[in-house]
Amino acid sequence: AIPMVAYRVSTLSSVRSIVIKKREVLDVSPRVDTIVFDKTGTLTTGAFKVVQIAPANGHAADEVLRLAASLEAFSPHPIAKAIVSEARERGIALLSVEEFTSVPGVGVRGRVAGRTVTVSSPRYSGVDPWVDTSGTAVVVAVDGVEAGVIVLRDQVKPGAAEAIGELKKMGYRVYMLTGDREEVARRVAEELELDGYFAELLPEDKVSIISELQSKGHVVAMIGDGVNDAPALVKADLGIALGAGTDIAIESADVVLVRDDPMLVPEFFKLMKKTYRKMK
Ligand code: ADP
Ligand code: MG
Repeated sequence: AIPMVAYRVSTLSSVRSIVIKKREVLDVSPRVDTIVFDKTGTLTTGAFKVVQIAPANGHAADEVLRLAASLEAFSPHPIAKAIVSEARERGIALLSVEEFTSVPGVGVRGRVAGRTVTVSSPRYSGVDPWVDTSGTAVVVAVDGVEAGVIVLRDQVKPGAAEAIGELKKMGYRVYMLTGDREEVARRVAEELELDGYFAELLPEDKVSIISELQSKGHVVAMIGDGVNDAPALVKADLGIALGAGTDIAIESADVVLVRDDPMLVPEFFKLMKKTYRKMK
C-alpha cells in the first residue's frame, strides 16, 4: 500500500517521519483517549543481549546455546538474533535444522541433529525459570525435556520515558502489552511510569485486551513493530507502526512513524489535534 498524505505537519522533520495511510486517521485521532504500546522493539530497543545460560539435566551451557542458535538462525525475532550472535561470539558452530516452525509470541521448534528442539517462552514451556527474574527468559527443550534456560536483556529506548510523560500530560491513559514475562513487564512499566501493563500475552490476547478497552467506551490507539502486533494494530481504532518495524506491522497500520523515535508518538497526536482544529 502506498502512503497517502503527510500534510499540514508542524516541522520539516515530521513531514518525513509521519506517514498517514488513510483519511479516516484525521477523524479518529482526536477521539483517541487510550494508547497501548507493545514492549519489545517499540518501547525497548529489541537489541537483546544474552546475560546468562543456565543448563539443566546434564547439558553443557555451550551445547544448550548451540541447539538454540541452530534453530534461531531461522527466526527474525530480536531474541533469536541475540542467541545467534552469542553463539557466533563464542565460536560455536551451528547444526543443520529440519522442519523449522515458528509461532509468534511463543517461540520456535525444529529437528536439530535428529532431535526435536524448542526454544520458547517459559509460559508455554511448562518450566519456571528460577534464574535472573528481571530478565527475559527462554526455555530450551530437547525431545520434550528441559535442557536449559537462556536469560536475555534489552533496554528501554532513548526517548521512551519522555514520550510516555508527554502523552500522560496530554491526558491519555498509557498502557503496555507484551508477550514477555510478568517480572520484565513490571520493571519496564515502573521505569516508564505507565498507567498499567499486561504481560505474557499471545498476539490474540493483545487483540482481546484492545476490544475489552473498546467495549468500555475507550477509543484505542495501538503502537507496535512486530509480526505479533499485526492483529492488534488492525483491531485498534488507530494502528501505528513505529520505526523500522516488520513489513506486516507497517501494512497493518493506519499510520507509520518512520523514524525509530518514541517521541514521534506525542508529536503525531499534537499534530492531529492541530489539524482537527483547522478543519473545524
Ligand atoms: P512482545 O509482545 O514483547 O513484542 P513477543 O510476542 O515477540 O514479545 O514474544 C513473546 C515471548 O515469546 C518472548 O518473550 C519469548 O519468550 C517468546 N518468543 C517469541 N519468539 C521467540 C523466538 N524466536 N525464540 C524464542 N522465544 C521466542
Ligand atoms: Mg514487538
